[in-house]
Amino acid sequence: MSQGKKALSGKVALVTGSTSGIGLGIARSLAGAGADLLLNGFGDPAAIETLRAGLADEFGIRVGYSGADMSKASQIAAMAVEAEASMGGIDILVNNAGIQFVAPIEDFPDDRWDAIIAINLSAVFHGMKAVIPGMKKKGWGRIINIASAHGLVASGQKAAYVAAKHGVLGLTKVAAIELANAGVTANAICPGWVLTPLVEKQLEARAQHDGISVEAAAKAFLAEKQPMAQFSTPEALGELAVFLCSDAAKTMTGVPLSMDGGWVAQ
Ligand code: NAD
Repeated sequence: MSQGKKALSGKVALVTGSTSGIGLGIARSLAGAGADLLLNGFGDPAAIETLRAGLADEFGIRVGYSGADMSKASQIAAMAVEAEASMGGIDILVNNAGIQFVAPIEDFPDDRWDAIIAINLSAVFHGMKAVIPGMKKKGWGRIINIASAHGLVASGQKAAYVAAKHGVLGLTKVAAIELANAGVTANAICPGWVLTPLVEKQLEARAQHDGISVEAAAKAFLAEKQPMAQFSTPEALGELAVFLCSDAAKTMTGVPLSMDGGWVAQ
């Protein structure tokens, strides 16, 4: 079904980690603005195919899928080559895939440190490296890196995550400077709490540890970090991503944009 010309019609957006949570919300918003999608992320193959076909039908766009593992540089590079052949390149890169693990530094397992740095930080570098030449050739591109409130401030127990997200903000600024006159912007979005599987796991662990309900754990999480006692949504973050892709945002670059219920205002 054709939906006519929209703001992002003709653009191709790769959203890493878009089989779930924030990535899926951002993919849906970009699709709503007319962009074709290249989905990525893990999950049940049949469920992913249902998601892919459903988005194509709902929004009248082309939707591809790559199962590339964001912890592997070679798979990220191969995904970009494949996207060039199958979709005509990547115009919008949303580096969103991410994982979490919580433990104090002295107990933090080395393999969890390596995995978080690989997926939450190094994949952002490898993804940008793979798509920047194509964006420069077209003279247009948008890079949106999903950082976190933890890119700006720290919490205990999250050494790898906080280090990776602070790194993402630095990397975003470098890209913004290098691409300033290439028609390509690079910005970061810094969400506070968003109720996704990544956070649900932390809520369940907290509920179990404290002997409280998951609802009570959610209230406690919000109260500890955010003046505003509500979660941000993947849909709202998606609308922010659409704005960053708009012409109005063409001189906005190198910026960490918080949507965090006041978390880092304190
Ligand atoms: P989620 O667990 O719902 O989704 C993560 C996505 O990444 C999934 O699609 C998963 O399949 C994919 N993924 C994980 N490892 C991968 C790998 N090696 N290769 C490819 N894909 C992989 O999590 P979410 O909450 O939607 O998180 C998305 C991003 O938002 C992350 O970067 C996270 O750090 C960030 N973030 C989340 C919150 C929050 O409160 N949920 C807050 C701030 C920032």
